[in-house]
Amino acid sequence: MADEMTLPKGELMRGKRGLVMGVANHNSIAYAIAAQLAAQGAEMAWTYLPDMERRVRPLGEALGVKLFAPCQVTEDASMESAFAQVEQAFGAIDFLVHAIAFSDKNELKGSFVENTTRENFLRSMDISAFSFVDAARRAAKLMPNGGSLITLTYLGSERTIPNYNVMGVAKAALEAATRYIARDLGPKKIRVNAISAGAVRTLSLAGISGGRTMIAKGRQWAPLREDTAPEGVAGCALWLLSDLGRSTTGEVVHVDAGFHIMGLPEEGEEG
Ligand code: NAD
Repeated sequence: MADEMTLPKGELMRGKRGLVMGVANHNSIAYAIAAQLAAQGAEMAWTYLPDMERRVRPLGEALGVKLFAPCQVTEDASMESAFAQVEQAFGAIDFLVHAIAFSDKNELKGSFVENTTRENFLRSMDISAFSFVDAARRAAKLMPNGGSLITLTYLGSERTIPNYNVMGVAKAALEAATRYIARDLGPKKIRVNAISAGAVRTLSLAGISGGRTMIAKGRQWAPLREDTAPEGVAGCALWLLSDLGRSTTGEVVHVDAGFHIMGLPEEGEEG
């Protein structure tokens, strides 16, 4: 678990304010990112799924989060209200973290072509891809001085991964959306990037059949021969969200112990 106490402290985010969307519990990638941002002096607002407040609020309070707003991304009124609260609390913001995805777990197994329904295809796209477009548009209105947006994606967008199915298609849309948003918002000095994280043990991963295999194969085959560390993902987020990342936009950065470069595993390590 990322813990603010164990992270190196610094000033890279001092004076910056922003919104983190997608903390569900202490295993969430958004939580690891938020802990890193807090350790570097950022001021944050968090949104959470309405029924998760009891779990989320104590985690945020421990990191000094200034505002908690419920947000169901499929509902315009809920998004409207969340961003209005952020505007009221902060006025302008400098960054946005989007770490939200959902698909029916019954369709995250077996045959993609046989098991994918129209209803879940559209819902997965809505929550996992369109919500970033919607959040980016709203966040940009609060960024008169420029800013930085990030979202979280996975290799299943570029390559087929067993059981990842419709989420892979949604992540491909999310990555393409990242490039289009980066193009549109670049002239306003707003940078937009995606982090392609290796498999990390979270609530979302638990919904994917064979999620454990994704972690185990990563550890076995990746060049670094280790799990993707949430702190490593958070470190990349810090680079992209701080001024260190000032010339990078429209990028998909892999933080996966190098797993994505492997065509085949080493001989004798296939099993
Ligand atoms: P998580 O379950 O902790 O986070 C997912 C978040 O999405 C939760 O906070 C949940 O409340 C939120 N969410 C789902 N539906 C929502 C809705 N309708 N409205 C508002 N919020 C909603 O899991 P995580 O693994 O930290 O996921 C964060 C992001 O990282 C996701 O985009 C996920 O696809 C991506 N990612 C995860 C992994 C991994 O292995 N865990 C790898 C690469 C990318």
